[in-house]
Amino acid sequence: MSSNVCKFGGSSLSNAENIKKVAEILKDENKRFVIVSAPGKRFKEDKKITDLLINCYVLSTKNQAYEEEFSLIKTRFEDLVKELGIDFDLRKVFQEIDDKIKKHDDYDFILSRGEYLNAKIIASYLNFKFLDAKDIIFFDKSGKVDLERSKEEFTKKTNKNSRYVIPGFYGTNEVNSKIKVFSRGGSDITGAIVAVLSDIKTYENYTDVDGVYDVDPNKCKKAKIIKKLSYDDMRIMSSLGAEVLHPDSTYFLEKYDITLNIRNTFNPSNSGSIIRKESPNFTRCITGKRGYLLVNVENKKNSQQKENLANFKNSLRKNNFEIIRTIEGVDSLSIIIKSFEGLESKVYKLACDYNAKITIKKIALVSIIDGAFNKELSVQSKIFDALSKIDFEVILITKGALDISISFGVEEDSFDKVIESIYSFLYT
Ligand code: ASP
Repeated sequence: MSSNVCKFGGSSLSNAENIKKVAEILKDENKRFVIVSAPGKRFKEDKKITDLLINCYVLSTKNQAYEEEFSLIKTRFEDLVKELGIDFDLRKVFQEIDDKIKKHDDYDFILSRGEYLNAKIIASYLNFKFLDAKDIIFFDKSGKVDLERSKEEFTKKTNKNSRYVIPGFYGTNEVNSKIKVFSRGGSDITGAIVAVLSDIKTYENYTDVDGVYDVDPNKCKKAKIIKKLSYDDMRIMSSLGAEVLHPDSTYFLEKYDITLNIRNTFNPSNSGSIIRKESPNFTRCITGKRGYLLVNVENKKNSQQKENLANFKNSLRKNNFEIIRTIEGVDSLSIIIKSFEGLESKVYKLACDYNAKITIKKIALVSIIDGAFNKELSVQSKIFDALSKIDFEVILITKGALDISISFGVEEDSFDKVIESIYSFLYT
């Protein structure tokens, strides 16, 4: 029997109606391993369950009331149970989460409960077995997935005749036997790992769009689906902003030669996008992301400044800030860091501690990925031509190491417009 690993994202599982659509897809008995995210947004202004869990934890650490946020989580799951007509007592799990939030204890455990509860509910609804990710995915002391141990446990806990629902996003830390989560969006990685552990060569990843687009369809109406992509294309696109897949999943797909099929839960007859080794490395797309800090550090190359700068850079790393790029100029160094709440003041403080002269700007990065970029000069000149025609300040320009991408730092406010203008100039 050929069989599939299928992962369903939060938008595919945001309410009972959508879960019923997922059940339709799972009528195909070849689909044996189902990985689920926590319920996502039901509408634009809605909140994802994982975000609500984070909010509860943060409010509690500030000794602020979190009960209102927590009751939103409870209601979402209670409604699901009711609307799916299953018998499932949520109280014990709610109590456990609440206790941990109160004590500011076990952040990863709290975060993982959205996936855990969703998987429990969906397994019960589908009449599949529930297979807890904590029993089959293990992280070693360096934080990497220990595939050997994971495979051993997976083999012990599964049999060829059953079908399973597995919560995405987490596993067990071998060092302390506690729950450990991947970074956000990590259920995609769980899906890839389950494909490796089960020796299954096709991984279907269901989302709410028809596949991988060459630009965000919400920004450009003429966006086109890319039917075939290579692992490199997919990794670069998702690292640079395309939200369709967690970039770390491609490591497992590539290493174990697994074909990834990105499909739409709400349009299952569409064949979606295929990502595999043999695909041509010739994607053309535009992607990007808001939410970066551009830190410009004066670097006049006298010995005192050099030392300050080195210390400042080290302190950024030690604080685990996610440095995306560093660009060295004649007398300044630009560091792009992925932003989060409160980062700006932390960076100013570090700069002060190390006597580094800095300026900070919030930016968005727009990236053009083009397989012909390093082969045809005309592509480069077209890109610069496009930039000269649009009326926005380009704050910085950087080229990717593989030489198939180029990124521009722009004001956050002009992000959508820049993408739209470059796309329509270059690719329509
Ligand atoms: N629920 C987690 C998140 O929102 C993980 C996932 O959906 O893959 O990031």
